[in-house]
Amino acid sequence: MLGLQGKVAFVFGVASEDSIAWSICQKLAEAGVSLYLGYQKRFMSRVFQLKDKLPQIAGFYPLDVSSDKDTKGFFDAFSKENPGVKADILIHAIGFAPKECFDRPILFVDDESINTAYTISANSLQRCMKFGLPYLNPGSSTITLTYAASTRHVPSYGIMSMAKAALECWTRELACHLGPEGHRVNSISSGPIRTIAASGIPGFENILNHVESNAPLRRNVTQSDVAGCTVWLASPLSSGVTGQCIHVDSGYSITMVPPSILGE
Ligand code: NAD
Repeated sequence: MLGLQGKVAFVFGVASEDSIAWSICQKLAEAGVSLYLGYQKRFMSRVFQLKDKLPQIAGFYPLDVSSDKDTKGFFDAFSKENPGVKADILIHAIGFAPKECFDRPILFVDDESINTAYTISANSLQRCMKFGLPYLNPGSSTITLTYAASTRHVPSYGIMSMAKAALECWTRELACHLGPEGHRVNSISSGPIRTIAASGIPGFENILNHVESNAPLRRNVTQSDVAGCTVWLASPLSSGVTGQCIHVDSGYSITMVPPSILGE
């Protein structure tokens, strides 16, 4: 039904069982996709434990998107072990900003921290696609993960708001650049979910409570909600969709005034 049986995916961004990327791995595996994971070395032991839980993981190699060398290194290691294999899906579920990007008023965050946030959280999509393109089949689908602070103010999201805006812009521009060859690039804007990355955001628990009370669905989304939309975007069912940012957020992004003004 999904048309994904026998397809191959690169999945970047598994750090723990809570990672959105791990749920994406599980759903892609259910759909018959073979998985090649790129992991950050600091999470190596956790990823190694997880790989045994999913036989569809065909390989895993270190990946650090902060440099060309270490990004290319993933694809070199992949192609060396799997000559001739190409992927149909690329999942970019990577985000990071130094602590001061969240803690300091945006006016006083230094260039180095801003550049790190942009490099890892936004520009790395271009880097992954630049080195990944020779290993992607025509008609591939790339999906990245973003957050609604890209277009609306969220207190404490700080410099990451600008990084996510840049990431969404990369999504559109790469979709236009690669579209003539049939490649698709989309982003999913996820509602807040408890993960390692989210634990660094000041006031995160309050954001979760606020969304639960005020989103149209009156609940937070789960990793599985995001993974479901990802699998759809990865599949031929979404063949006419590219350059888009799709909100998986219990509808929170369409609201402006909370229902509590009516005393609900
Ligand atoms: P997570 O901590 O599980 O995943 C973040 C991943 O980024 C980790 O696997 C980490 O290894 C990887 N990463 C960071 N720096 C890297 C580097 N230099 N090289 C390679 N990989 C690197 O958290 P998550 O919430 O699953 O985050 C996945 C994506 O979802 C991120 O882009 C995040 O901004 C986005 N997102 C998360 C939420 C949320 O509330 N959790 C909401 C919206 C969007």
